Amino acid sequence: MIHRHDVIIVGAGLAGSRAAVEIGQIADVAVLSKVYPSRSHSGAAQGGVAATLANISKTDRWEFHMFDTVKGSDYLGDQDAIEMMVREAPETVIEMEHWGCPFSRTEEGKIAQRKFGGHTLEYGKEPALRACYSADYTGHVLLHTLHEQCLKQNVHFYSEFQVLSLIYDGTNHRAVGLVAWDMVNGGLHTFYGKAIMFGTGGYGRAFAITSNAHANTGDGLALVLRAGLPVQDLEFVQFHPTGLWRSGILVTEGARGEGGHLKNKEGRRFMEDYAPTLMELAPRDMVARAMQTEIDEGRGIDGKDYIHLDVSHLGEERLRERLPQISDLAMNFAGVNPFKEPIPIQPTAHYSMGGIPANANCRVTFDEGRTETTGFYAAGECSCISVHGANRLGTNSLLEALLFGRRAGKQIVEDLPHLDWPELPAEYEEAAKEEVDRIFSSSGDEKVGKIREELQQTMMDDCGVFRTKEQLEKQRERVHEFEERFKNITIDDKSQRFNTDLLEAIELSHLLEFSGAIVEGALLREESRGGHFRKDFPKRNDDKFLRHTLARRENGAWKLTFDKEVILKGVYHEGFEPMERKY
Ligand SMILES: Cc1cc2nc3c(=O)[nH]c(=O)nc-3n(C[C@H](O)[C@H](O)[C@H](O)COP(=O)(O)OP(=O)(O)OC[C@H]3O[C@@H](n4cnc5c(N)ncnc54)[C@H](O)[C@@H]3O)c2cc1C
Repeated sequence: MIHRHDVIIVGAGLAGSRAAVEIGQIADVAVLSKVYPSRSHSGAAQGGVAATLANISKTDRWEFHMFDTVKGSDYLGDQDAIEMMVREAPETVIEMEHWGCPFSRTEEGKIAQRKFGGHTLEYGKEPALRACYSADYTGHVLLHTLHEQCLKQNVHFYSEFQVLSLIYDGTNHRAVGLVAWDMVNGGLHTFYGKAIMFGTGGYGRAFAITSNAHANTGDGLALVLRAGLPVQDLEFVQFHPTGLWRSGILVTEGARGEGGHLKNKEGRRFMEDYAPTLMELAPRDMVARAMQTEIDEGRGIDGKDYIHLDVSHLGEERLRERLPQISDLAMNFAGVNPFKEPIPIQPTAHYSMGGIPANANCRVTFDEGRTETTGFYAAGECSCISVHGANRLGTNSLLEALLFGRRAGKQIVEDLPHLDWPELPAEYEEAAKEEVDRIFSSSGDEKVGKIREELQQTMMDDCGVFRTKEQLEKQRERVHEFEERFKNITIDDKSQRFNTDLLEAIELSHLLEFSGAIVEGALLREESRGGHFRKDFPKRNDDKFLRHTLARRENGAWKLTFDKEVILKGVYHEGFEPMERKY
């Protein structure tokens, strides 16, 4: 079946939904999502969304937010895009408030704001209260508010459609359409439109311990790679310091923002050895490394692989008011009462800094010179615009998803009159059909679940918080072996309706498609920057590596290049020169 809409968006998280609200006002827009829209991972976000409203930290300014984001990115962020983000943040958040988003309030009735790692006043002097929040359900309320607005604009939702391929005309660099599997009834559907946007979310599920939803399998990246386009900076994966031990379920950084302490087995606040000024509120890459070092050197609790997060001194009343969700999570998933006991935590794969290369107007680019594709846009976690560079600050990604979703929507509205209807090539469904047929008919002795577990565990062990050449070379081989083994899978369920065996096999093929890019990027980048730390190259090397990595696949083999230099200035601001990063 063929569906035709002016604009087709993949993803109903904050990025996709925000763009749809913008476009729905003037054009026919469809949103495809493999999960019910309000179940998108954005809804799991707890801590907050950054904007210099200065409701509590009265002297807060966008210049401080820009500095913090640039420094947090370990100078790999493109400063034109960062400037745009921090300048437009207040109006983006206030607009959500006007649409009815129930933020927590100050006593004066303004949007409440809390502290978050790496966000400061006066260029690093003291922590800023910049994160706008709704208890610890911020993502949930933002997503539901946007979904209501989408319904108001009559956005056409195709819920539980899993997109399998991007139809892309490589000669004219033109996105044409998509082929998706109808998860409820089975069968392929083709969608085509004048503009295609990806808001497909992150790739945390490539790792064993992760805070990410099961759906976060980086599908958008795999589809882009298969269309012959590059992905950017995939080696930069954020490990969030406070995942619940063993499950990886997130305990928001808001817990430290509210005053929680991290302690090793001696009961000592070890962050004083690593970031004496900001302590627990240093950026995530630093805190995760400090924790992993404590664990590796035998100072984890009882010598095991976890650390304590202590919030008990904040008192039950405050915890119930400000952090109700994490209090429940600690009780239900770690069996501890956070009002009285410390919570066992370990670093958890949390956010994907890398993604589909796009510029600040959300147009996808395809080469080292950042040449734009036509009719193809990306925003949110699947994109690499890049506002987070090598490390993202907490609360900057809800902002990114909302803000660049909004920008993508506005850009598409502006571009639509100049975009023709593209022509569907003759074999538009072939790739997707072959993939589904191959999985249905394959009868080897490998199981999807087993390969996935091995991939996730080995990525965690050998491409995690700390990396070395030996580990990465080993992992390169393994990913290759997993890809070979994938050719020999069998699935038990051969039915059409709600065939989760089929969908999981497809998702594993996506994890396998791009995991090599994480490993190859990490091998190529012989330095340590932000979330990427090479034990054999512990220093940052700006002369060689102040550049974005582009990874493409040609007949299965990886080809890596660097794009032109990182943009070091904004339009209004002269920019921040790279400095040593100390907190
Ligand atoms: C537990 C947790 C807590 C977080 N807390 C915060 C926080 O407090 N502050 C902050 O700033 N950030 C936070 N983040 C990060 C932030 O939530 C995300 O980066 C952001 O919400 C991503 O939004 P998105 O719209 O890009 O993607 P998502 O919300 O992940 O949505 C992706 C969408 O793509 C769809 N999709 C994907 N693949 C396909 C396919 N093949 N076919 C069809 N549809 C597809 C999915 O169905 C979904 O609708 C948190 C993340 C996690 C995991």
